Amino acid sequence: MSTPEQKRRIEIYDTTLRDGSQGEGISFTVEDKIRIARRLDEFGVDFIEGGWPGSNPKDEEFFERMKSVPLRHARLAAFGSTRRAGIRAEDDGQLQKLVQAQVPVVTIFGKSWEDHIFHALKTTREENLHMIADSVAFLKGEVPTVIYDAEHFFDGYKADASYAIECLRVAWEAGAERLVLCDTNGGTLPDELTEIVQGVRQALPNAVLGIHTHNDSECAVANALAGIREGAIHVQGTINGYGERCGNCNLVPVMASLRIKLGYDCLLEHSLEHLTGLSQYIDEIANLVPNTRAAYVGRSAFAHKGGVHADAVLKGASYEHIDPEAVGNSRRLLISELAGGSSISGKAAERGIDMDRKSPQTRALLGKITEREHEGYSYEGAEGSFELLMMQAMGTYRSLFTLKGFRCIVEKRGDMAETITEATVKLEIEGEEQLVVAEGDGPVHALDSALRKALSTFYPEMAGIKLTDFKVRVVNTREGTAAKVRVMIDSTDGEQSWSTVGVSTNMIEASWYALVDSVVYGLLRCDNRA
Ligand SMILES: [Zn+2]
Repeated sequence: MSTPEQKRRIEIYDTTLRDGSQGEGISFTVEDKIRIARRLDEFGVDFIEGGWPGSNPKDEEFFERMKSVPLRHARLAAFGSTRRAGIRAEDDGQLQKLVQAQVPVVTIFGKSWEDHIFHALKTTREENLHMIADSVAFLKGEVPTVIYDAEHFFDGYKADASYAIECLRVAWEAGAERLVLCDTNGGTLPDELTEIVQGVRQALPNAVLGIHTHNDSECAVANALAGIREGAIHVQGTINGYGERCGNCNLVPVMASLRIKLGYDCLLEHSLEHLTGLSQYIDEIANLVPNTRAAYVGRSAFAHKGGVHADAVLKGASYEHIDPEAVGNSRRLLISELAGGSSISGKAAERGIDMDRKSPQTRALLGKITEREHEGYSYEGAEGSFELLMMQAMGTYRSLFTLKGFRCIVEKRGDMAETITEATVKLEIEGEEQLVVAEGDGPVHALDSALRKALSTFYPEMAGIKLTDFKVRVVNTREGTAAKVRVMIDSTDGEQSWSTVGVSTNMIEASWYALVDSVVYGLLRCDNRA
């Protein structure tokens, strides 16, 4: 049931790049972070928290490089803490770095819990209040928007409600535009959280509230939704719930539930149709295996096994809580081919290519993708390879060379000796045979160098294309040593970046396929621009 109150617009604040990157097994390069920021912006989130510029040089580089990356919709936020005890805000180096990031939004966190004030900050309750007020007021004079994250707020409130409220009040009075209540330990349950948010609303009726939850009791999503129902208009979290320990609040189900089930306004009009793609893309960049049972976006979220159930679904009976296409997912049954056809024409449309979902080209492409996916390929996050398949189906692909053979030798003679890698590549280009030998740091680098050398005589544009990242993942662990590996390669020509994929039981062969796609895509792109 929706009431007028529920039509409020909810701000989506993504912290995948900051809190999310604290998760075990997650390490983003600066290039990864830029790609994720771009994708989040295209998707339609309101805020992208990019990192903590005072804490590490990588985040500083990210903010520096983002100065030349235009965002369509989202506002970039830098994260930091209140000033140190006993100094002036303007003398605090960490606050100065937040200003130097030159972003439209700065989010700072402060303490609301005695336990942390005494043990972590080693200061007094009074000085903590000054630290919050001074820091917010100083930043308010330097950046357009200041958001205040009340760290450990729920624990602080349980220990001493009036002091926790006082911490919020000074931040609000100093000019913070959002007061974000953080369940930093993730231990609060929804009923308790509801009561506390109600308490805050009574004490500070005019304050604009946000909610930031963690998943230590598997309640992060439920808690975020409870906070919104109690009046928060701003929700923080990460894509796929990445984050420390058990993770942050997963924004994927939060955004879907807000719009589809609770009738709130958020994101852009068609954002949710790209939700599954976004979730897979971020997993792909993070080099994590997607959770097939993830709510709304998992591969199994709308999968129906044979028998009576699938038959009933085919006849129109509802066994699904929402229409899978509303979140860009698809039902997996005998009829999945149709759903696939529309997603391909959708992807083609994103690239400005008109492809009818029922045309023979679309069907051929779909057949090819199904076959490749069965072999272990994944095209989410490998736009370059996907586009090459699309060109082949449309007849716009042009073969640039034929492989006559390659060989790769890795040699190490004795423990202390240097390892030498050498690759030989033989290609036929425009009827001429090219035999090239190159050395490299490892087999992929050597093959890449040889391939480039062979091609550069014919295609001088090769000089502008370079490989930026390389990822390997085992795709079918059950088969032990016969397991296949999937190699993803990122490349750039200085203007645009693209990713390609290769699969084989042999890592070098998988790398070769990804390398070939990478250079062919780069060269055909130049072609199409000319
Ligand atoms: Zn957090």
